[in-house]
Formats: sequence, C-alpha cells, structure tokens
Amino acid sequence: MIYGGIEGGGTKWVCAVGNGPDDLQAIVTVPTTTPVETIDHVAAFFAMYPETVALGVGSFGPLDLDERSPRFGTITTTPKPGWAGTDIRALLVSKLDRPIAIETDVGVAALGEGRFGAARGLETFCYMTIGTGIGGGAVVRGEISHGLLHPEFGHMRIPHDRGRDPFAGCCPYHGDCFEGLASGEALRARFGIPADELQAADAWALEADYIALGLMNVVCTLSPQRIILGGGLMKAPGLLSLVRAQVRTLAGDYFDTPALGEGIVDYVVSPALGDRAGVIGALELARIRFASDEDRVPSSARL
Ligand code: ZN
Repeated sequence: MIYGGIEGGGTKWVCAVGNGPDDLQAIVTVPTTTPVETIDHVAAFFAMYPETVALGVGSFGPLDLDERSPRFGTITTTPKPGWAGTDIRALLVSKLDRPIAIETDVGVAALGEGRFGAARGLETFCYMTIGTGIGGGAVVRGEISHGLLHPEFGHMRIPHDRGRDPFAGCCPYHGDCFEGLASGEALRARFGIPADELQAADAWALEADYIALGLMNVVCTLSPQRIILGGGLMKAPGLLSLVRAQVRTLAGDYFDTPALGEGIVDYVVSPALGDRAGVIGALELARIRFASDEDRVPSSARL
C-alpha cells in the first residue's frame, strides 16, 4: 500500500509517493502557475504511480473544509491571481480518480510533525510558519483542528506600537494583523530590502517581539503542549533564541509550567522534518483517512 501526498503552495507544489519520511519513493516539485496547468503537472506525476491508493492534500488557503458545503475543497478568498474560487479537490478527483483528503498546508505540516517529528507523543500542539506569509495549524487531541472555518494564525491581531514601528502593515484585508506586521513580505515592505539581506539588530528584535506576541496569543487560547516554528524567516540566525526569550518575558510568572520558563527550548522548537513537514503530513493524512484496518497502526508506533 502506498499513498500520495501533495503540498500545494503559492509558489510551488510538492508531490510525493510512499509510506512515510523513511519511505519516500519519489518526490517532485512543480511551480505554481494557473490552477489547471499546475494540477495537470501534479496529475502527470501521480499517473506514473498507479499503485498509489489514496492521496492527501495540504493546500494554501483559505479553504472551505466543511464536508457538507458545496464548495468543500475550494480555495476561497486568496489574493493570489487566478486561484480564488478554485475547487482543488474536484480538479484532483477529476484527474486522478482516487480518494482524496484535503486540509490546510499548515494543518498537514502539524500532522506530519506529530506523527514523525518534533511533536511525537503529544496530543495538542501547533505548527506555525513564518515566511512570505504567516500561517498556523493546530492538532487538538490528535485531530487537525477546524470548526467555523479553519484557524488563521496569521491574521490574529497583535499590539502595534506605532511609535516604535510606524509601518502601517501590509495585509490587504487587515493592515497591521500578525502577517501584516511580521511576514517576510512585511519586512520587505517596511525596510525596503528582502528579509534575507536584513542585518540590523533592532529590526530582528522587532520581528522577534511580534512573533512572540503571536505565540502568546496561541498559548493563552489553545494551550498547546508545544509550538513548532517553521518557515523561511525562522532560518535567520539568532531569531529563534530571541523569540524564546521574549515569550518567557511575556509569560511572566503567571503560567505554572516550566515550558514557559527554563523549558522554553523544548517548547518553542524548529520542525524536525524541515521543509518536508507539509508533504509528509499530506501523505500521512491519506494513510489515516483511507488505510485498510491492518495498515491503520500509527506510523509512529512502528518507528
Ligand atoms: Zn490579515
């Protein structure tokens, strides 16, 4: 039994077949162009692996994930040209004729880290990506969380001191929401250079403070047992340490747990699966949803 995983992103789609991180039999990346062209490329890849029994998809969003909705599996309000209103699930089903499960890109990344990575053995945790945009997914008691819609960590409101940071924010919907202030796009717009060329210590201190504020909102509302911080910006040297220190400061002495004190290095962590958390999580989503009973043993138990 092998499964397919698809991580659909705004710049690239990553497709893999296999049974887990130690059994990836093929992996390919295709650029995100138009919906039809991109999904044609994805379908051509999976056509080479007819033994793939089911597919899991983790897509950029926002997505309609309500199975009772006529738009189930559709990208809704994205500003990405050509993609708003795209019924990803229906397009894939029409091309691939296999069972397909769909969640957000960050939801499946959380799932992947839970089964194989930095959140193994935990029931309730978050995966956040701090990159060109900001997103987050949560696993709550073992299930990817959604309800009214799905979590939108990137659009949380966080305190914005306009004296320290006069930048108005770059979210087209909210201005100075979390993503509007702290995404890679926000750094580029505020400082006029790409984030990977940004050297100034005070710029990174500001960034760390914003990320820590976002994390504290999640700590206070969801009470995750661990927060995994991925995304391109988190590769900036020293940023993770600054974020951890600021989370400790913001938490103060209120929370009765070492996780928000001396245990912070084990609480706010990098993804163990690196940039493959999404596609591996997508593969795992397919296995969880569609495996036959004998194949349903959690992969983490077999490792
Ligand atoms: Zn926003």
